Amino acid sequence: MAAKYARPALALVDGKDAKPPEGKVIVEKRNDGTGTVVDPNKKFAMVIDAGACIGCRRCMYGCIEENNIPTSISPAWIELFELQLERGVTGHPSLHDLKLGATTSYTESPKEGKWYLAAQCNHCTNPPCVKVCPVGATYKAEDGLVLMRYDRCIGCRLCVVACPYSARRFNWVKPELPPDKTNPLVPVRPVGVVEKCTFCAHRTRRGKLPRCVEVCPVRARHFGNLKDPESEVSKLLQESLNFRLLEELNTEPNVFYITRGKKWIS
Ligand code: SF4
Ligand code: SF4
Repeated sequence: MAAKYARPALALVDGKDAKPPEGKVIVEKRNDGTGTVVDPNKKFAMVIDAGACIGCRRCMYGCIEENNIPTSISPAWIELFELQLERGVTGHPSLHDLKLGATTSYTESPKEGKWYLAAQCNHCTNPPCVKVCPVGATYKAEDGLVLMRYDRCIGCRLCVVACPYSARRFNWVKPELPPDKTNPLVPVRPVGVVEKCTFCAHRTRRGKLPRCVEVCPVRARHFGNLKDPESEVSKLLQESLNFRLLEELNTEPNVFYITRGKKWIS
């Protein structure tokens, strides 16, 4: 991996932003549990190198631990698909193409001839889940994050149906988490509400990387500010062919996929 893509030693987003943002600052007062500052000069995005991913699921388990996700929720916020695709990928593949013969129940990885696709909430620029929520429980923040106000959610699950990425989860049972395994920075969501990936708002709005990015052993995950042309994610997208899932729906996902790994080079 080129040195310029090395992870910052202090795990800061794009190696900066430890100090409060300048200009217009919005303090989130909504009860999304993040208690964080929104910087409208940012547009958070993730770049996943599907050519590098080895399907180890460490991102998924890191996310579960970080975000107080009880085992009663299935599946977790991040899903890993093992794909059978033997041909290279060109152009903009559809989700159907990518998931052809896919399974989430593989027991070992990486395997010869397989590749791995991590899927989660895309924090869409044009999110259908936000449009259908009848009580404004899910919303798009000024820094691009799509978040939940858990105290407003009435559990109608319209957002679950509206999300074309199956990224939302419903709490069917009361979450049971031992206090010593609970992250105090993240609220434990009650039964009867919907939840999903937050791009680790409690971390990323404080200048840290999402947990999934931090724990990935092969640096298949990258995170940063798309409004900064010098950020790592902006440069990766300028330099690498990339695609997003279901681009044809005009949801404008902010999770991008690149395939720099040798697996996809024909
Ligand atoms: Fe909403 Fe689904 Fe887009 Fe996430 S991926 S913002 S849940 S529509
Ligand atoms: Fe892929 Fe990295 Fe997640 Fe492992 S931690 S499954 S390599 S993205």
